[in-house]
Amino acid sequence: APANVGVIGLAAMGASLARNLARHGNSVAVYNRHYSRTEKLMKEHGDEGKFYPAQTVKEFVDLLERPRTAIIMVKAGAPTDAVIDELVEYMEPGDIIVDGGNAYFKDTIRREKELRDKGLHFVGMGVSGGEEGALLGPSMMPGGSDASWERLKPILESIAAKASDGEPCVMHVGENGAGHFVKMVHNGIEYADMQLIAESYDLMRRGLGMTPDEIGDVFEQWNKTDLDSYLIEITAQVLHHKDPQTGKPLVDVIVDHAGMKGTGTWTVQTALELGVPVTGIAEAVFARGLSSQSELREEAWKQNFAGPDGRIELGSESREDFIERIRQALYASKIVAYAQGFNEISVAAKTYGWNIDMAHLARIWRAGCIIRAKFLDRISEAFESGEANVSLLFAPFFKQGIENSEADWRKVVAAAAESGVPAPVFSSSLAYFDGLRSKRLPAAVIQGQRDLFGAHTYQRVDMPGTYHILWAEPGQEEVKMSD
Ligand code: NDP
Repeated sequence: APANVGVIGLAAMGASLARNLARHGNSVAVYNRHYSRTEKLMKEHGDEGKFYPAQTVKEFVDLLERPRTAIIMVKAGAPTDAVIDELVEYMEPGDIIVDGGNAYFKDTIRREKELRDKGLHFVGMGVSGGEEGALLGPSMMPGGSDASWERLKPILESIAAKASDGEPCVMHVGENGAGHFVKMVHNGIEYADMQLIAESYDLMRRGLGMTPDEIGDVFEQWNKTDLDSYLIEITAQVLHHKDPQTGKPLVDVIVDHAGMKGTGTWTVQTALELGVPVTGIAEAVFARGLSSQSELREEAWKQNFAGPDGRIELGSESREDFIERIRQALYASKIVAYAQGFNEISVAAKTYGWNIDMAHLARIWRAGCIIRAKFLDRISEAFESGEANVSLLFAPFFKQGIENSEADWRKVVAAAAESGVPAPVFSSSLAYFDGLRSKRLPAAVIQGQRDLFGAHTYQRVDMPGTYHILWAEPGQEEVKMSD
């Protein structure tokens, strides 16, 4: 058999990945349910390397060297199961099936188990970077057996994005669903990061009355600071772009409904299951939801509620000084969003028995993926040294970052509230930080309420045991329920 690897599913992602593989010296078998996509790939890019087009799944499998390696890049969900079922008919023990789609990690855990029972290796691999990343170098997060990683490593390292120090942006994340899990949280962090940038824009646009061009310039400046990142860079590009039809700023002609495909929602649902507050990511998902509730928003606008119009009163402060405060608020909130995301990964790792090298994970997000950013180097160092073991927020570099930004962060959240510019991720990140650093929380009141209406009991600060007040009895005595 001529091909050392195969790709099934040749839409945007699969075609790009197949080309990337071929350009790096692999012999690539390609198959797509509708042959027209395969033909198109061969016609347009067939000369970029060694491709072996197949018309049927059997033909595809026969083209693969044994033990075989097949990468699936199809729509997540039922289509992935359908393709796996077809492959399994022809594959043999020892072969590897990689799912590079955006699968839900619990599906990956299930599929890995089913295929392991048949002697096959199943690898759930998160792929980030979109179509361009897949072609020029994605960040890849495979999860699966050690044996499958040994074989995949050289192939994946050859096509991965390379960080500035040359390290390939791919690692063996852990067993079964670990790869898809971290890809899911990567996307959740991406949601928070994007929303923070959007809130910063809104504060400058409505709050300070700046134009998209001026704000684009600010983001360009910010990209030379600690905030240096792909998302800040592309935001400047979007804000500077003029609509070809009207000449207006493009951002002013785009309908303000943010779409989503589900990974942000999964990150939050999973965090709720695990009991990990990822408030920044959750608020970012809800902000997209609110943006798309067009009828409700229309109705609310018509209500013409009394209240401030979004204009921030600067008083004696200069615009430049306030813009710097927004930058500081963005930086602090971003640290919180990452800390929450990494916290979700570490709790999941314990729950699902994955051994995830967080320092390495931060390093493979330095290039190729959407959240690539300068400060991932610092995150990696913080995990490497053990300083971030409990929380990223406690690593001296980030602790100091938050402390330096803190006063500005509070001013920005206060100004947003006073002027009526919604800043859900700025405010919720600050509330999380304040909650975390509080010696005592009002949760004691909630325990009192719960004990009164539901006999849910409480514990005391001064002695062990579980207690309940006989609220309905005249004496309202305390009884010890257990030791
Ligand atoms: P799509 O998600 O649009 O899926 C289209 C592909 O799936 C086509 O090859 C299609 O075949 C195939 N397909 C759909 N249903 C079936 C089925 N029942 N049996 C066999 N094949 C089927 O393609 P993308 O390239 O956008 O994404 C591929 C995967 O990569 C998805 O899981 C996506 O979530 C993930 N991903 C996408 C990113 C992106 O930026 N787009 C980034 C990272 C991951 P046919 O041509 O015959 O219809």
